[in-house]
Formats: sequence, structure tokens, C-alpha cells
Amino acid sequence: MKILGIDIGGSGIKAAPVDIASGRLAGERHRIPTPQPATPDAIAEVVRAQAHHFAWAGPIGCGFPAAVQHGIARTAANIHESFIGTDIAALFSRASGCPTSVINDADAAGLAEMGFGIGRDRDGVVIVVTVGTGLGTAVFSDGVLVPNTELGHLEIDGREAERWASDAARQRKDLSWKKWSKRFNVYLQTLESLFWPDLFIIGGGASKKTDKFLDHIDVRAEVAPAMLLNGAGIVGAALAAAPQRRRRLLGEV
Ligand code: BGC
Repeated sequence: MKILGIDIGGSGIKAAPVDIASGRLAGERHRIPTPQPATPDAIAEVVRAQAHHFAWAGPIGCGFPAAVQHGIARTAANIHESFIGTDIAALFSRASGCPTSVINDADAAGLAEMGFGIGRDRDGVVIVVTVGTGLGTAVFSDGVLVPNTELGHLEIDGREAERWASDAARQRKDLSWKKWSKRFNVYLQTLESLFWPDLFIIGGGASKKTDKFLDHIDVRAEVAPAMLLNGAGIVGAALAAAPQRRRRLLGEV
């Protein structure tokens, strides 16, 4: 079965058909820059354009950078605030003409890593942290996702972690990788003291640069770079839309 996966991000909206059984992209990835302002209607228009590009008529799964509860966006840290309360699953379904489901982007990346990447067959507690414009998190216990954990917004020493230790914060403050890694280390140590994971998987844009900072990370848990790199968001969004996976995510089986 093939599902069109769409990864909605702050700078680009990337899509590709995904083969659900293998977790592999089944076609060339297509990227459309995120429109500014990134309002619900503007993003819906890009979802429509992506479905059109692939001449898609089947199911679509979107990863979206907010807490998403039953298709409704609940937060808007790095996106237009008019998304809050919007039924984005219904909006994107109408725009694309295809049944479209939506999950949090970090949860999507996590599902891909747990299904087909470095987290495959890993039991225990695994935390996937995506490092990019925001800090996204996906928490798994024995392979089962606890959705919408939003741990990038934890407050550490009076600061919101995401504003201080994301890749955007590194770039904004022009921090060396070493200086930034000290911040990221404090972030992982805080997560560790609260959740005691067996494994941290580091994903998002920074997963391509882990050679620059993993040596400076000092936690008890194993720390591994994501394997699927930037493709994880597309693959995971599609996996979450697969009928069987969806029923499991929603606790129906
Ligand atoms: C959002 C999360 C998202 C993360 C990564 C955060 O600002 O609140 O929902 O997963 O950024 O995009």
C-alpha cells in the first residue's frame, strides 16, 4: 500500500509517496517553500498542490509542527496562531480531495525511526528529539507512542528549552557547536532526570551534524543519531495514516 506523506515545516513542505510495508519513499521527493504568512488557507493550498503534483487519489498523512488532537491543531509555537482550534485534518482533506490525517511532526519522525530506523525492535523507553526550528519530542514505551508530548517547551532555569537549545537558537546566537552542545546536554539531562529513557534518538536537521556535538553529550542513556535523517518526517506521516496503524494509535485495536 502507498500513502502520500507530507512533512509540513517552517521553511519547506516536503512530500513523497511512501511504501508502507518497507517504509521507503516510492517516488522522488517534492519540496514547496512554506508560504508566508503560513496561514491555514495558505498551507492548505500547498497540500492541494502536492496532491496535484503526484496526481494523488489515495490517502494522505501529514506531519504538522503542533500538538494535534483528533485532527485539530492545539498549539502554534512556530506557526500562524490562527491554526489553534482549526480542524486541519478536515481542511487538508477538503483541499486535497483525499482523506488526510495529521499528526505532530516529531511523533511522525519518531514513528519512522521506531518502525524502520535506529529504534527498530527497541523496547523500553525511547525519546526521539528533533532538533530544528523547534525542539520536537516523541516518547515511546515498548514501541508504543505517547502522542503530543511537547517537551521542547519545558522550562529549564527560567527559560523555555526550545528558545535556548534548538538549532534556531544556535543560529540566532551564532553559537559554536561546542557551546550549543552544552545547552543541548543540559536539555537531555533534564529529560533524563524526568523520564529515564533507555535511548535518545536525535533527529531533525541537526541529525546530519551529530559528529559535531555527540561527543559533548553526557547522559546515562544511549544516544544515537536518527537513521532516516530528513526523510523520517514524510515516512512517519504516511505510516500514521495507514488504516491499521491509525486504529492502534487511537487505541481502537
Ligand atoms: C512544537 C512541536 C513540534 C516542534 C518541532 C515545537 O515548537 O510545539 O509541536 O513538534 O516544534 O517542529
